[in-house]
Amino acid sequence: MNIEERLQALAAEAEEALKERFSAIDATSFYHTDRVLKAFKEARVSEAMFAGSTGYGYDDVGRAAIDKIYAELFGKESAFVRSHLVSGTHTLTVGLFGVLRPGDTMLTVTGKPYDTLDEVIGLRQAPDTGTLMDFGVYYKQLELKDGRIDLAAVKGALDASFGFTSDGEIYDEGKHGGGEKIKMVYSQRSKGYLNRRTLSVKELDEVYELVQDYAAAHQLPEDRIPYVFVDNCYGEFVEKSEPKADILAGSLIKNPGGGMADCGGYIAGSERAVEKCGYRLTSPGIGTESGATVTANKGILRGLFYAPHTVAQARKTALFAAYIFEALGFDVEPSWQTDRSDIIQAVILRDPALLIAFCRGIQWASPVDSYVTPEPWAMPGYNDPVIMAAGAFVSGSSIELSADGPLKDPYTAYFQGGLTYESGKIGILSAAREVLKARTEK
Ligand SMILES: *Cc1c(COP(=O)(O)O)cnc(C)c1O
Repeated sequence: MNIEERLQALAAEAEEALKERFSAIDATSFYHTDRVLKAFKEARVSEAMFAGSTGYGYDDVGRAAIDKIYAELFGKESAFVRSHLVSGTHTLTVGLFGVLRPGDTMLTVTGKPYDTLDEVIGLRQAPDTGTLMDFGVYYKQLELKDGRIDLAAVKGALDASFGFTSDGEIYDEGKHGGGEKIKMVYSQRSKGYLNRRTLSVKELDEVYELVQDYAAAHQLPEDRIPYVFVDNCYGEFVEKSEPKADILAGSLIKNPGGGMADCGGYIAGSERAVEKCGYRLTSPGIGTESGATVTANKGILRGLFYAPHTVAQARKTALFAAYIFEALGFDVEPSWQTDRSDIIQAVILRDPALLIAFCRGIQWASPVDSYVTPEPWAMPGYNDPVIMAAGAFVSGSSIELSADGPLKDPYTAYFQGGLTYESGKIGILSAAREVLKARTEK
């Protein structure tokens, strides 16, 4: 069989094997679409909301409705959604600086956070750029244990922070207050550029419950209860609920923007945390009451309407890719049989030429910039040269079919998105074609 015949046969085999998985994905999309419609109805979404506001942006009914709908859909007390949040990294930064104060400790419990946070936290020191460390915030990292959150280690870290030696002891500032002040327990749902499992909502919720139970057992005063933060990028609308958190953050050019929002991010969570994050978003005293939406409201609402369906298209594309590349003899993470909590598919190509070929294939099958050939480049915020394929309507959007990977061993392509399954499938077959050609030439 030539490459073309082999790919056509494989595609048919994949779709047969994935039938049941695809209908489960459709069911989740239906479930969320129903919730979205109810939330829109409840918030009385109307055409007038698309007009947006200018200047200070006071009394923006569209913005208020969007915030309310996000809080409702994500099961949180409060939320804000803004086009002024320039990226996922910026959104996470607002969340971190919103609640952390000098002397506080940020504890991550899912290993090292996403690469771009190195410079936000201060792990990669560019002196005096205003990192968390510049402001006297400490950082502590717990690794995953066998791919899972080490809850015993989380409890141990809290004990060390609060000076407890036994369970049930009541917190006393004089006696216990001397240690490091863990003020945030931070998780990342998706794998980012790491070869690890994606964490499920259930696993992330266990961290939230642990912190709340801990605070209750020791009667921690409100201002000492650590904020639970979840980087939710790429996870939205994959499962039936979103992780419990004081701060849940994500990007609108990923899942919840549905491929329609032009830019932006969201933070949803507890009243006490979201209010503080709002002060960091704009300024103390102003918070979320201001911020002209200009023309953003319509895209954000329309995107949210599409999001459950778009996420379903991306999930199907990811499963299809997992099946195809596994059949071609590559390691993939996760495998097509595995349940997922995000839309990322990693294909481990173990060769720089194959990684570049993969991205080329995705790019050449894109609706925009299909004539461009991607090259590795030193992208700000990343340690190694990165190659990216993105032929998207919204620049850099990764809910649209896109692939990227750092040029370092084991040369993994992380790809995600697909506004429609049909175009996703065409993109994956194009990537497979290029990889097979590059492998034959070796
Ligand atoms: C994409 C992503 C980010 C950063 O978002 P940008 O928009 O690229 O700044 C952070 N965390 C995770 C898990 C992501 O997937």
